[in-house]
Amino acid sequence: MGKAQIIDGKALAAEVLGKVARATAELKQGHRLTPGLAVILVGDDPASQVYVRSKGRRTREAGMESFEYRMPEQTSEEALLEQIAALNADPKVHGILVQLPLPAQIDAAKVINAIDPDKDVDGFHVINAGRLMTGQKALVPCTPRGCVLLARQARAQMSGLEAVIIGRSNIVGKPLGQLLLNENCTVTIAHSRTRDLPGVTRRADILVAAVGRPQMVKGDWIKPGATVIDVGINRIPAEEEGKTRLVGDVDFDAAVHVAGAITPVPGGVGPMTIAMLLRNTIEAACLQTGAPLPAVLEGI
Ligand code: NAD
Repeated sequence: MGKAQIIDGKALAAEVLGKVARATAELKQGHRLTPGLAVILVGDDPASQVYVRSKGRRTREAGMESFEYRMPEQTSEEALLEQIAALNADPKVHGILVQLPLPAQIDAAKVINAIDPDKDVDGFHVINAGRLMTGQKALVPCTPRGCVLLARQARAQMSGLEAVIIGRSNIVGKPLGQLLLNENCTVTIAHSRTRDLPGVTRRADILVAAVGRPQMVKGDWIKPGATVIDVGINRIPAEEEGKTRLVGDVDFDAAVHVAGAITPVPGGVGPMTIAMLLRNTIEAACLQTGAPLPAVLEGI
């Protein structure tokens, strides 16, 4: 059997980030507009700290302004809402991201819905979810947006294709279903109660796994030639004692012999998420100031 095309998310993310930097330079020069992204981290979850640090670095590298707010684990919901209100009112801040998960005393939905929808660069606000669902202009969640760009690397034309997404979360599965519907795919969203999951996934021309279960999707769940996008990030023990490694939701070593194209983990969907976040920050800055979205961002 042949080997699938490996869709290089790192390279594609670098290309997007290059375009984001060009768009930022254009807005600074032509419109005296420096897009600004504020990231709020509550508590000291180590993974979240890593994400927040790299978001800040990438934001600055792109020439944008980065504002970081670190709040203690015991922060009250009220204090966080006050911080968001201040950022909503700050004209230098065009994007606001609250790093999830939040501590138990804080209602995440309430916090997300307190963000000005035009500054909601994660696209999680109900207004943006509703706009996406009804075909209106919306800020779209970053990971699903990245998945579509990755799929396009292998499938320039998606119209009429069967797409199966495993996972129905608000941040990945559901918005991705909408985006693939917009690409004119026939979309199935499978989940933990789906009957005969391998039978369902074998129909997919485009198969997306967003579950959080290491190597769940086996080679024989995949239609030969399918495009496979692996969103999962799972840490498992490595062969070497005491060490761990990252794997996706797809059994890559088996899938690579069946699929037509596949994203690796790491180096697939992961790097695309931050790139799309910065792209969304530029869109938000344009939305708020009336500046035109730079042409270099067309199609991404
Ligand atoms: P989630 O836990 O919110 O949702 C998981 C979904 O999987 C649920 O809808 C559930 O119905 C479904 N599911 C659970 N068990 C199943 C089973 N046995 N069979 C079929 N479906 C099942 O997760 P999420 O936030 O959507 O994230 C999913 C994965 O993607 C995680 O590994 C997460 O780390 C990763 N992720 C990666 C990025 C990235 O940037 N690469 C971004 C977000 C999430």
